[in-house]
Amino acid sequence: MNAGDAANLRIDGDRLWSSLMEMAQIGATEKGGVCRIALTDLDRQGRDLFVHWCRAVGCEIRIDQVGNIFARRPGRDPHRPAIMTGSHLDTQPTGGKFDGAYGVLAGLEVLRTLHDAGYETEAPIEVAVWTNEEGCRFAPAMVASGVFGGVFDVDYALSRRDPDGVTFGEALRAIGYAGPEPVGGRKIGGFFEAHIEQGPILERERRQIGVVTAAQGKRWYEIHWAGMESHAGTTPMEGRRDALLGAALLIAEARRIGSRPDGRATVGVIDSKPQSRNTIPGRVFMTLDFRHPDDAELTRMDVAMREAAARIAAENRLDVTIEQIWYFPPTPFDDACVSSVRNAAERAGLLHMNIVSGAGHDACYVAKVAPTGMIFVPCRDGISHNEIEDADKADIAAGCQILLQAMLERANT
Ligand SMILES: [Zn+2]
Repeated sequence: MNAGDAANLRIDGDRLWSSLMEMAQIGATEKGGVCRIALTDLDRQGRDLFVHWCRAVGCEIRIDQVGNIFARRPGRDPHRPAIMTGSHLDTQPTGGKFDGAYGVLAGLEVLRTLHDAGYETEAPIEVAVWTNEEGCRFAPAMVASGVFGGVFDVDYALSRRDPDGVTFGEALRAIGYAGPEPVGGRKIGGFFEAHIEQGPILERERRQIGVVTAAQGKRWYEIHWAGMESHAGTTPMEGRRDALLGAALLIAEARRIGSRPDGRATVGVIDSKPQSRNTIPGRVFMTLDFRHPDDAELTRMDVAMREAAARIAAENRLDVTIEQIWYFPPTPFDDACVSSVRNAAERAGLLHMNIVSGAGHDACYVAKVAPTGMIFVPCRDGISHNEIEDADKADIAAGCQILLQAMLERANT
């Protein structure tokens, strides 16, 4: 087969689906979900199955020092940088069958399709399994793709501890996936990650393919309000220093500030003291989570929030302190990779739309060292990180077909 036949290659949606269901047996929960926590024996079993499947189609397996797995299919030109895809096999404790596993097994299906057709790409093709994406056992999330992307160093990743005091490095050795390869430091010709959307937009808009243009940036805040505790009955309404009122007004302001195109604002934790129904709250702790795909807009949200908090504090005789505890910059994906995904969807005649990733993904860190794009497919009711997470077989297949075409375009030009 030559390059002209690339457009005729078809992935096998039934085979992909049955591989997803087989992988989901490893750590299967009673409610139909999956619990396959990073670097546990179940994670090892999932990895072993993936490695077995890849070797069966002639791939060479390499494992790096943080346990990332790379299954490589040679290209005609071994000197060209590989075109890579992949995602993660670890799950949340009450996770689903598709988050992460879809991106890995869609990559496997690409390998199988090329293998069956005897098709030789110009550049090598690789499928990656990134260690500990979820971050529920070892924080932070996406730590191993972060090392690959140059954001963290190897020792930092290996020294992360789980709640029982076990280090990432110890757990990695225990499951036999502490590899010899250096992490990253090599040129990648392009990286594509297929993933379920984990949100409701594609389903609502009735589109099969999300062309992911960027991933949101985040700012996380911890905010403390201080007023004065006093008697609920004897303290007149004017002159009160009600810390909880300050928090309440800021929650409403945050919602207003977040209500801009592509903006998100969430207050998830509020803790008032002293938790007495007849004492005016004197102290409040609250969290705030701001997201936006455009860094300038995210900065404007920050400025607007700080101004609002200062005004609320002054008007209500309160003190407020705002600490930003995390900043994750927005990740715009590579224009050419994004176009490859869109072109593939157009050629296949699939309904598609541009979309911004609301969640973090391994692709966000890989994007720091390689041209990167993502493909989203709908998931039922937009639900993810839940055992009832579900997706449509036809959508799963469509996303994989787009992945194949996008990778081929990049691997052959
Ligand atoms: Zn995921």
